[in-house]
Amino acid sequence: MIAEIITIGTEITTGSTLNTNAFFLSQKLFEIGAETYYQTTVDDDEKRLMDVINIALNRSDLIITTGGLGPTKDDMTKEVISKALGLELELDPVMEENIKNLFDRMGRCMSNNNVKQATKPKGSSFIENSIGTAPGIYINKDNKKLIMLPGPPREMKLMFNNHIKDLIHDDLFIVSKSVNTVGIGESSLESKLVELNLASVNTSIATFAKDGTVEIKIIGKGKDKEQIQLEINSIIKTIDEEFDKYIYGYDNVELEEIVVKKLINKGYKIGLCESCTGGLVSSLITKVPGASNVLERAIVSYSNSSKIEEVNVKSATLEKYGAVSEETAYEMAKGLMDKVNLDLVVSITGIAGPDGETEDKPIGLVYICIMTKENYKIIKSNFNGNRTLIQNRTAIKALDEIRKIL
Ligand code: ATP
Ligand code: MG
Repeated sequence: MIAEIITIGTEITTGSTLNTNAFFLSQKLFEIGAETYYQTTVDDDEKRLMDVINIALNRSDLIITTGGLGPTKDDMTKEVISKALGLELELDPVMEENIKNLFDRMGRCMSNNNVKQATKPKGSSFIENSIGTAPGIYINKDNKKLIMLPGPPREMKLMFNNHIKDLIHDDLFIVSKSVNTVGIGESSLESKLVELNLASVNTSIATFAKDGTVEIKIIGKGKDKEQIQLEINSIIKTIDEEFDKYIYGYDNVELEEIVVKKLINKGYKIGLCESCTGGLVSSLITKVPGASNVLERAIVSYSNSSKIEEVNVKSATLEKYGAVSEETAYEMAKGLMDKVNLDLVVSITGIAGPDGETEDKPIGLVYICIMTKENYKIIKSNFNGNRTLIQNRTAIKALDEIRKIL
C-alpha cells in the first residue's frame, strides 16, 4: 500500500509551525507497514491544494491529510477533495446536532460557519473527534482510501490512534519488533545485517541511529499472522546470537531503564562524578522510577577547584596531566569511592568543545572511569559532533559501560 501524507496550512509553509503531524504520521504508518513514498505540504490555497490532491490520487493508494477542516474560510480541505473526487458535499443532521450540543456544553453559540463542519462528501463517513469540533472524514472510493484529519496535533494523534489504524489495516497482519543496541555504529551493524541476509518474503529490516544507540526494526507483513511471527522470531534469534553484547533491550526500552533495573537487581548503590556531561547521566538515571533505590549521589564537578575540593583530585595531577586525562578520571572516581560507601562509581571528564582543544587533546576526547570496590576500568573515547552530541554520546557510553559491568 503506497501512502502519501499531505499536510495543509500556510502556517507550515511559512515556517511558523513545525510540521510535527507529518513526523507523527510517517512513524505510525511505518509501524503498521504502509509505505509512505510521498509527503507533501501545501499552503491554504485552493488551486495548489487541488493540484496536490490530484497528484496524490494518481500515485498513492492511501492519502492522509491534516489541517483545513475548521470552520473558517481558509479551511477548505473537504471542499477541494470533494471536488477532486466529483462528490457532492451533504449536510449530516446528526453531526450538526452533535456540534451544536458541543457548543452548548462549552457555553458558546454555534455560528453559521460551524455548520460547515457537519458536511461531508457523499458516501464518506465521519471520524469521531472527541476533543475538538472538527470531525475527520474517511472516503473509500475506487480502491483509494482518503482520510482527512484536523490540524491540531492533539486531536489528530488521538483520532489516528483510536480510529485510523483499523480503517487502513486491509486484511494484512503487521507485526513489528525492535532490537535496541548500543556500542556498535549503524554502518557496521547494517553491513553485518546485509551479510546475514535475514529478510524473508514477509519481512523487512531497517536500522535507525540515535546518539550512539541503534534500533534494528523488523517488520513483518502478510496474511498469515503465525507465519509472520515465526519468521520474525527466527530473525530475532539470529540477531540475538550475532549482536549479543550490543543488545540492551527490545521494543525501544531506554538504556537508562535497563541500567537502573540491573542496579536494583544487584542491590547496587551508585555514585557519579560528572564533568563535561554536567549531570546528564544523573539526569537520565533519575528519569527512571525507582532511581532513588540506586543513585546515592551525583556530583557535577566542573572546575579544577571543585575536583580538588569535592573528590580530592590532587592539584599535581591536574597540573601534570590536565583535567581531561586518564589520571584525573581515576582520581575523581577514587575520591568519591573513598568518601562514600558505594558499590559503583562512574566519573566522566572530557572536552565537549567548541573550545578547549589542544594539540594532543582534540574536541570529543572523553575519559570515563568505572570503579567497583575491587576494580576499575578507564575508557577513552573520541566522539564526533557538536557540544550537545558529544555530551549525549558520552552519557550513552557511560550508561553502556555501567550496563556491561553489571
Ligand atoms: P481548526 O478547527 O483548529 O481550525 P483545522 O483542521 O482547520 O482545525 P488548521 O486550521 O489547519 O486545522 O490548524 C489548526 C492548528 O493546528 C494550527 O494552529 C497549527 O498550529 C496546528 N497544525 C496544523 N497543521 C499542523 C502540522 N502539520 N503540524 C503541527 N501542527 C499543525
Ligand atoms: Mg483551521
